[in-house]
Amino acid sequence: MIRVRFPPSPTGYIHLGTARTALFNWLFARKHGGTFILRIEDTDPTRSKKEYEDALVRDLKWLGIDWDEGPDIGGPFAPYRQTERLNIYRDFADKLLTEDKAYYCFCFPGELEKDREEAQESGKISRYSRKCRYLSSNEREFLLKKGIPPAIRLKAPLEGEVVVEDIIRGKISFSIHGLDDFVIMRSDGSPTYNFAVSIDDYLMKVTHIIRGEDHLHGNTPRQMLIYQSFDWEIPIFGHLPMVLGSDRSKLSKRHGALAIHEYRNQGYLSQALVNYLALLGWSPGDERELFTIDELISAFNLNRVGKSPAIFDEEKLKWLNHHHIAKLTDEELLSLTLPFFEEAGYRIDYELNKLMALISCIRSGIHSLREAPIRAKFLFVKPESYIIKEEWEKEILLTLINEISNSKESISLDEASIIINNLSEKVQFPKKKYLPVIRMALTGEEKGIELARILYLLGKEEILFRIHAIISRG
Ligand code: GLU
Repeated sequence: MIRVRFPPSPTGYIHLGTARTALFNWLFARKHGGTFILRIEDTDPTRSKKEYEDALVRDLKWLGIDWDEGPDIGGPFAPYRQTERLNIYRDFADKLLTEDKAYYCFCFPGELEKDREEAQESGKISRYSRKCRYLSSNEREFLLKKGIPPAIRLKAPLEGEVVVEDIIRGKISFSIHGLDDFVIMRSDGSPTYNFAVSIDDYLMKVTHIIRGEDHLHGNTPRQMLIYQSFDWEIPIFGHLPMVLGSDRSKLSKRHGALAIHEYRNQGYLSQALVNYLALLGWSPGDERELFTIDELISAFNLNRVGKSPAIFDEEKLKWLNHHHIAKLTDEELLSLTLPFFEEAGYRIDYELNKLMALISCIRSGIHSLREAPIRAKFLFVKPESYIIKEEWEKEILLTLINEISNSKESISLDEASIIINNLSEKVQFPKKKYLPVIRMALTGEEKGIELARILYLLGKEEILFRIHAIISRG
């Protein structure tokens, strides 16, 4: 039975890279009927915040990523928040102490810092001197009695190597010399990340650890040493390629990358973002790029995750958003865009069929939901800037007033087309001359949707109001 986990630290909003890691774990679990666990790694009291935990839960839900076990829903290995598991880590650290696989370290941070600086000056790799590993039991007792709060370090092997068998990257060996006797419990009694994560992954029976490549060098071999100290079976590791900006440096705001909730605010559809995230490091092995979530679940395969970094490409994300918007029905698109209309300050008190007509004529031109009110601006904002310059313009507008005044209270789309076409007999100008004048007068814009639709959407009263206003200004 496959069990995977997504263990974010609630120290900020989730970004593309983190969401991609969550998604790959989730797709893998869903594809194989496995279990997806959400675990909150909040052991850093200075940086962890409940509001970030709430935000990440909201973001994951918005993306459609659900979990089978987690802090909010519990599960067989609860609790799923690390600050509620502190006793567990202490017990396991005590076990290693009793078995002489870990030891108390009484060195002060200042002392360690000095060693580090000296190593740096002489060009050596900075490594803990292992001074406390070799304390006699008397010395240890003495220091404990003195009340110096000790940290606990893992007694790493002195020679050899740690070999990670990574399902994405193959076999990677690490010399034990680079790993050191690292701290597993700090002197304040809190566990370090590597220790807590290993204990939790073991206790929660995690079978596959799929995460970013940034964990490969610093953390994975250390976690393997912890597993080995307890004689636990090592889970399967898979390190995902990094997501980089176009200049191949670490992805950041500077490259235009946003936090997940910001994409939502920008009018991206969650299905487009999920589709985009899936393609960051994975490919289906054929030409396909557009996927629904269900199609992703069935196509996803860890064997097709590449080793080279994925490059963030905002244009592609926009392109996908456009295509996912195109798949929505008018009703779906309307309900998703309403909050954006409200945010733009537009009162949505139009009749439903008019709003649907509006959506159906602006939809093909939008790449994000946020663009909908921009394209529909003419309906809500009266054009203030248009001023009649020539007598013939006035003549066109007066003729339009005449035609509209003779029409019924509500103008249908067909009637609007007829009015537009009939104008060519009433005014002595060709269409290419009179249509732009009417468009400018009614919308203040040079381009936009079909003029008949503009008449239909605005309605008799509003058309007359706008044209009269222009004539009285001109
Ligand atoms: N809390 C860690 C992080 O957010 C988890 C890393 C892991 O998957 O082990 O980076």
